[in-house]
Amino acid sequence: MNYYSLNKKAPHASFKEAVVKGLAPDKGLYFPKTITRLEDSVFENIEHLTREEIALKAIEQFVSPEIPLENLKAIIKETIAFDFPVVEFNDQISTLELFHGPTMAFKDVGARFMARCLSHFNQGKTEEITVLVATSGDTGGAVAHGFLGVKGVKVVILYPKGRVSVVQEKQLTTLGQNITALEVNGVFDDCQDMVKRAFLDEELTSKIQLTSANSINVARWLPQMFYFFFAYQELKKKHGKIVFSVPSGNFGNICAGMIAKKLGLPIHHFIAANNENNVITKFLKTKQYSPETTVATISNAMDVSNPSNFARIQELHDQDFKSLQKDLSSFSYTDQQTEDAITEIKTKYNYIADPHGAIGYLACKDYLKDDEKVHCVFLETAHPTKFLPTVERVLNVKLALPEQIKQVMNKKKISMEIKDYKEFKEYLLNR
Ligand SMILES: *Cc1c(COP(=O)(O)O)cnc(C)c1O
Repeated sequence: MNYYSLNKKAPHASFKEAVVKGLAPDKGLYFPKTITRLEDSVFENIEHLTREEIALKAIEQFVSPEIPLENLKAIIKETIAFDFPVVEFNDQISTLELFHGPTMAFKDVGARFMARCLSHFNQGKTEEITVLVATSGDTGGAVAHGFLGVKGVKVVILYPKGRVSVVQEKQLTTLGQNITALEVNGVFDDCQDMVKRAFLDEELTSKIQLTSANSINVARWLPQMFYFFFAYQELKKKHGKIVFSVPSGNFGNICAGMIAKKLGLPIHHFIAANNENNVITKFLKTKQYSPETTVATISNAMDVSNPSNFARIQELHDQDFKSLQKDLSSFSYTDQQTEDAITEIKTKYNYIADPHGAIGYLACKDYLKDDEKVHCVFLETAHPTKFLPTVERVLNVKLALPEQIKQVMNKKKISMEIKDYKEFKEYLLNR
């Protein structure tokens, strides 16, 4: 499969080049040159397929022939080696739990897939690849776990000191081996700036092979379509039209769902569920795209003011506003509304949602007001204990820590503090 840059000023790239580079040389996101609909039989017989078979059908055209079939099968098997259960609240609303992976956030799927692809491409090479990640919380942990112990790949995570949750920090800083955590004296944007600067630093890139592991990378983005298929497989017999409500930040997850639809998966509609960082909610109403300064919220993984993957969503809809509106609705909510939703979900359904999932639930409810003959599935993108202080305060309960989290909480934090780009660069050159 070939990929082109959405800025259209860079040469086409193979899957391998797109994964290794991350972003195209013209700073555009890579996009698949063709998207071929799967045969109808896949959807007609989906209940007879295993999850591995479904995932293979979904992703094969995007990665072959560069990853041979047998290797791809092995990569998929390892990537999805945990559950993706759908929990039904009632006839109209379900949640798809995406938090059963090692770091208890949906990003585990993309991170594990990408790590294994890079490792495949790096076989037999002597040169190491360094993956740089700036994180405001979940990405770093998922990427670190995904790449742990992968040969030929070093991971360097930059996170803002004192600004990630205790659980998230432990997930970043306790792994060791090929993972290093750098604690930056600053905010998330400072971390992000250092990573961007490193990619543009020719002295650095001539000596070290660098790549990035956020959802701009096609190998992290595309496998996120798998669980839309899994949810459909489970709900197909019971419900007619299915709508997905996706708590969205950088819009990678929802955009992967749209690729699944393009492949023929019968999805009636998408809802982008947002917090007060609501540039897309406003855009769909007014056709004006005007990003504002990022606002800090209790659903902090969605504190993004200018979502990178929106360019891919526009491309999927041929840059046509009407066609986009037909496929996508968006609602946004305040922190107070989010907290009230956490309480409502607990009271009505005896279910504990995290702040991101709670926003997905609210968006389902608002959408159902106008289109009630559908089944709305909101994605529960992280386990509630990842946002422990908020959830415990709102519900006035003590949550038991799941095994995955307990294990890291007992480990010792190892990190290195850096204060500016100069120190960061010195670290990279002198490791
Ligand atoms: C990353 C993240 C999101 C946002 O996903 P995007 O693909 O960036 O839209 C939502 N919820 C949680 C818990 C996340 O970690």
